[in-house]
Amino acid sequence: MKNRIYLDHAATTPVSRAVLDAMLPFFSECPGNASAVYATGREARKAVEQARRETAAAIGAQPAEILFTGSGSESDNLAVKGTAFALKEKGRHIITTSIEHPAVLNTCRWLETQGFEVTYVSPDREGRIDPESVRGAIRGDTVLISVMAANNEIGTIEPVEEIGRIAREKGIVFHTDAVQAVGAIPADVNRWNADLLSLSAHKFNGPKGAGALYVRKGTRIDPLISGGHQERGLRAGTENVPAIVGLGKAVTETVREQQKNAERTAALRDRLTEGILSSVPDAFLNGSKTGRLPNNCSIRFSRIDGEALLLRLDLAGIAASSGSACTAGSQEISHVLRAIGLSEEEAKGSLRMTAGPENTEQEIDETVRTVKEIVEDLRSMFRG
Ligand SMILES: *Cc1c(COP(=O)(O)O)cnc(C)c1O
Repeated sequence: MKNRIYLDHAATTPVSRAVLDAMLPFFSECPGNASAVYATGREARKAVEQARRETAAAIGAQPAEILFTGSGSESDNLAVKGTAFALKEKGRHIITTSIEHPAVLNTCRWLETQGFEVTYVSPDREGRIDPESVRGAIRGDTVLISVMAANNEIGTIEPVEEIGRIAREKGIVFHTDAVQAVGAIPADVNRWNADLLSLSAHKFNGPKGAGALYVRKGTRIDPLISGGHQERGLRAGTENVPAIVGLGKAVTETVREQQKNAERTAALRDRLTEGILSSVPDAFLNGSKTGRLPNNCSIRFSRIDGEALLLRLDLAGIAASSGSACTAGSQEISHVLRAIGLSEEEAKGSLRMTAGPENTEQEIDETVRTVKEIVEDLRSMFRG
């Protein structure tokens, strides 16, 4: 079997050796419940609090402002529903965007069935949200603004610093889904004026099923899971100690290596993007050329069915995505690609490849060659 080429780092990443080594003792040698008083319980508690300090340090927060959750999706749910429920007497209007991850988008849609009102701000053709459009959507009863730090499909980096400033000025809670941003670009809750920030370990070489929500001191949210007093009563359930330890280790490493990895993946991304755009006719970049995540290459091909392209790439040992892992396979047309103004046809012909620091230039060159061959082949089949 030929070597596989993994170019879907926006969907998930492998757990690093160092992260795995840090997690392992907490499965067996130190199995204590972090709420227990005996020695292995205290060891587990110590490890959880260490991970809390590490997570806080990675985003410029205080340890007491970090809640551990079971995923990025859960963090988004807790931020959006938690705020809506806690502030429902104050107002029932929420502002978000039409290009959010489903964890925010579908949560907002559900809240609409529960008596809340939502304004979905549209991006420009590069996927950028204009802070002034957010300002224009604010009403007297707006209680939450939720705008992602960077888009998972087309990689556009959003002006969260300015949006956060507007929210702060108006006294409105600001949440940012930073799941794609943490580790890829510098993330700081104070610079971004964020009151709530979601992150997820498996997007930066940590384990799956481990997320965190930053909750600025004084920000009120209601819990979604009731039970014991874990996580300050905001997320009941025995702590997943190995996962939390893994998150802490992974976030520390990703922030330490951020600049180096960003330079490396950006060089690979550019090689991939330029390689394809210069060798395949009628191929276009989705998103912004400059304001995009260092790992993200999203390209649309005229007269191509993205699903067919993906399957052929898979046969060639290359893992990529049609838009996002969450819409792959569902034949659903990407809401993000539609929101930036692509026709159904254009959206269907899109391919997302997201690089990681372990990818090599040889892999990129092989991918460029393979994409070119497959696109030519698919187009010749349909020429009739
Ligand atoms: C992956 C992702 C999520 C969901 O995180 P999970 O931990 O997989 O639930 C949310 N938002 C964005 C932008 C993502 O890329």
